[in-house]
Amino acid sequence: MRFSQMFIPTLREVPAEAEIISHQLMLRAGLMRKQASGVYSFLPLGLRTLKKIEKIIREEMDRAGAQELLMSALLPAESYKESGRWEVFGPEMFRLKDRNNREFCLGPTHEEIFTETMKSIRSYRALPMILYQIQTKYRDERRPRFGVMRSREFIMKDAYSFDRDEAGLDASYQRMAEAYHRIFDRLKLKYKVVEADTGAMGGSGSQEFMVTSEVGEAVMAYCEACGYAANEEKAQCSVPQADTQEALPVERIHTPQVRTIEELTTFLSCSPKQFAKTLIYRADGSLVAAMVRGDRELNEIKLMNALKCNELEMADAESVQQVTRAQVGFAGPVALGIRIIADHEVAAAVNLIVGANETDYHLKNVTFGRDFQAEVHDIRSITPEDPCPRCGKTISLTRGIEVGHIFKLGTKYTRALGCNYLDETGTERPMVMGCYGIGLNRSMAAIIEQNNDENGIIWPMAVAPYHVIIVPVNVLDETVMKTAEDLYKVLQKAHVEVILDDRNERPGVKFKDADLIGIPIRINIGKKASEGLVEFKYRENRQAIELTVQEAIDKITAEVKAIE
Ligand SMILES: [Zn+2]
Repeated sequence: MRFSQMFIPTLREVPAEAEIISHQLMLRAGLMRKQASGVYSFLPLGLRTLKKIEKIIREEMDRAGAQELLMSALLPAESYKESGRWEVFGPEMFRLKDRNNREFCLGPTHEEIFTETMKSIRSYRALPMILYQIQTKYRDERRPRFGVMRSREFIMKDAYSFDRDEAGLDASYQRMAEAYHRIFDRLKLKYKVVEADTGAMGGSGSQEFMVTSEVGEAVMAYCEACGYAANEEKAQCSVPQADTQEALPVERIHTPQVRTIEELTTFLSCSPKQFAKTLIYRADGSLVAAMVRGDRELNEIKLMNALKCNELEMADAESVQQVTRAQVGFAGPVALGIRIIADHEVAAAVNLIVGANETDYHLKNVTFGRDFQAEVHDIRSITPEDPCPRCGKTISLTRGIEVGHIFKLGTKYTRALGCNYLDETGTERPMVMGCYGIGLNRSMAAIIEQNNDENGIIWPMAVAPYHVIIVPVNVLDETVMKTAEDLYKVLQKAHVEVILDDRNERPGVKFKDADLIGIPIRINIGKKASEGLVEFKYRENRQAIELTVQEAIDKITAEVKAIE
């Protein structure tokens, strides 16, 4: 393609709304445009990369024996009501009604519909079966952000396996895990596979493929010593030994205008470890209190699992004031009158400082069991001070972007929707199911997060929108242009995806654009064209090398062949 004819609306300025590199570069390099919050259009360069990611995923899914089909995005409510997820998804599900007032949603994920479809299979002989699609999903995220990292419309590869029994599921799950390794290896991503929480979805096992990145929204814990890796929700914190200090009598202390942990530690000049935070939540409509030590972070997913609730949010100020009979900032567990979930560390401690449920007062020397009761669970986030849950050595934390998720669902959906098969003896049994997702747009953003420099994107060859860009330094020089045009034709014939930058622009402008859009190989054609020489430059290297035209052609075709 000739650059002069291409639709590549690059931007010089960093768009203000884009906080992370991939989002900035996807806008600046003209890969996509924003339509609305969390909704993006893909432009030609972006679409080419997206299609390549799609192709790699499709090849590996097919290789693993999965069969592709395509479901609609507009889905009737009935199956979601039968499975219970019409409620569970809550405001995250886009809902609409047709002209006859029939309820629909825009599919957030398709477990129900695949399960319905599989009801056409009756015999055990047809199992196992893995079906997948590459299709658009919709989720009305509360806070769409980071471009396509967390968007409201996105393309997902979702696969579903159906087996006769748990052993069959284990084998299908393993097959998908191996396919995922091949996919993310081919996408040139650096990733970790972590144990994930099965949470509200139920199920017996789950792993996430996490691309390591500082801008990742997820925190994962891993152990260099034994290889343990889990996401923050799953990584268990050790249960501390009970404090053996003597429990002192409770004291009421005056703490005027002291609400936050920082203000308290300063005011009472002591460590945040001596405090317990009491946080008031609304869980499926009811108020509950959750307690963690002052220096710890509460993990809301762990709390949701402990409560077995579907929806959890911080209670509003009015509710907090009602239940604590005090201003916000003075909540505590003593005589609180609502369900309390306390972290193990809170239960193990004695002589804690907590809110007094009275404005401007705290209580000192409060001890679990004597002064208040609570359900005790692991509800805090793991820290680098915690030992590895498996081997006890040091644990490390890092941030990651979840690009893939594999999940053993079991019979949750097949039982709910009556998806049964007949076994060898003619007995009806529910199929045993697994589900397997990959976010395509997010994978693309993750590749950019791991492959960029101050000048722009550095696409790996396998997913680059084009393999090569030819840059004639002076388009008015006949020899230069003839060399460029000839090379362009030869490469096209060799099925190399090539851009010819035929614009009458300064070389600096062309080089800048080529770097920004990240084409892996650049061929500069200058004065030495008259001697049959061109410059060959990899996007990731600073230095160009001088080659004859034929050497350049051989090197390019070899590089392109290597990705096939
Ligand atoms: Zn370990």
